[in-house]
Amino acid sequence: MDFALNDEQKMMIDTIRRFIAEELQPLEDALENTGALPDADARRIHAKARDLGLYALNMPAELGGGGLSNLDRIVCEEQFGHTSDMLIRRAFGNVYEPLLHCKGEQVERWLKPAVEGTRTCAITITESGAGSDAAGIKTNAKRNAEGRWVLNGSKHFISDGIWSDFFLVSAKTGEKEISMFMVDKGLPGFTVGKDQAMMGIRGTPHLELFFDNVVLDDATLLGEQGQGFKLAMGALNVVRLAQVGARAVGKATHVCELMLNYANDRHQFNTRIGDFQMVQQMLADSVIEINAARWMVYHAAWMLDQGLDAREQIAMVKVLAAETLGRVVDRAVQVFGGMGFCKELPIERYYRDARIYRIFDGTSEIHRSVIAKSALKKGAVLFDVNR
Ligand SMILES: Cc1cc2nc3c(=O)[nH]c(=O)nc-3n(C[C@H](O)[C@H](O)[C@H](O)COP(=O)(O)OP(=O)(O)OC[C@H]3O[C@@H](n4cnc5c(N)ncnc54)[C@H](O)[C@@H]3O)c2cc1C
Repeated sequence: MDFALNDEQKMMIDTIRRFIAEELQPLEDALENTGALPDADARRIHAKARDLGLYALNMPAELGGGGLSNLDRIVCEEQFGHTSDMLIRRAFGNVYEPLLHCKGEQVERWLKPAVEGTRTCAITITESGAGSDAAGIKTNAKRNAEGRWVLNGSKHFISDGIWSDFFLVSAKTGEKEISMFMVDKGLPGFTVGKDQAMMGIRGTPHLELFFDNVVLDDATLLGEQGQGFKLAMGALNVVRLAQVGARAVGKATHVCELMLNYANDRHQFNTRIGDFQMVQQMLADSVIEINAARWMVYHAAWMLDQGLDAREQIAMVKVLAAETLGRVVDRAVQVFGGMGFCKELPIERYYRDARIYRIFDGTSEIHRSVIAKSALKKGAVLFDVNR
């Protein structure tokens, strides 16, 4: 058992930290205040991140990606947590793993451009009537008289929809069958609805999408008919670990450091507030919980690298990391007092941005229910490494 980071991992961390501090953090306030990232800034940070080899780190090297192991990738994703969602997407890319199931002409049409960053992809599963129950969707694709797929239905809350050139869309292709299609923006019958304003992560658009008799060619089907959804849900496990688990730990780390600095600097009753035991409890609990969440994230990534099934561990990570972040930002508001609530500092923004982590990529309740059902079935193997 070796818990140490190796030299390459330390170098990646340093490079990402410097890039975020120099290129991304200076853009955060304007992004928050205007709710939009100018094209020129998006192009610049994308080009600079690519030059440093930081784009699409999760994709195989032979496709032009970073070719990182799951553990190395997670170490990087944790650092991404130190900046805003939108800036991460534009600088480092959000190339979804399900695209790795592309075959034949699909590789040139969708996978490679996504890895290069010339085309952006969003994932679209949720509908107004189907969220946690992802299999309860109404969007459907049927073959027409010429044997081509015709897509009908709608989706909502689709992150990054405005910037996306194509969408991974789940659709029913039979009574009890769901498939996944790659749908290009601009196809006749495909319209983009409103950007649904959110409590936090300002700057990232969340769109409604409508499909009205959108005709798709055969190459748009990802994986086999009826299997694409399963493939996508499997591949999304690692997305959950990276984009929620690791980033939540990074975000909590960032906020905790600010909280500690403030507790050292701020004086009341002629002493620093860090000397008050009730403040110390908030600091100590945050430090303990962040460490626990981080090791759980790293362990789940290590399991994936060993070829082990980490589904339950990732469900545990999703709950622990998201809820740790929630508790840490809440304590940060408290430790900063009025300044934690005031827009002159970013603490209130971190508080709002954190709330979604318990909801997207499966709510805490859904993941708890997966864990409980598995524990009831499998017993101690879920929490005792000696079994
Ligand atoms: C900012 C943001 C970005 C998003 N990005 C995307 C995206 O890019 N692509 C995409 O496809 N989707 C996206 N989503 C959708 C997101 O994944 C869903 O919101 C989430 O899965 C929950 O679904 P819901 O909102 O319909 O809530 P519901 O499923 O209606 O849940 C409501 C409540 O009921 C609880 N509940 C539901 N079922 C159960 C159960 N079986 N047991 C216990 N409790 C239960 C939930 O935990 C929750 O508390 C995004 C959402 C937001 C807000």
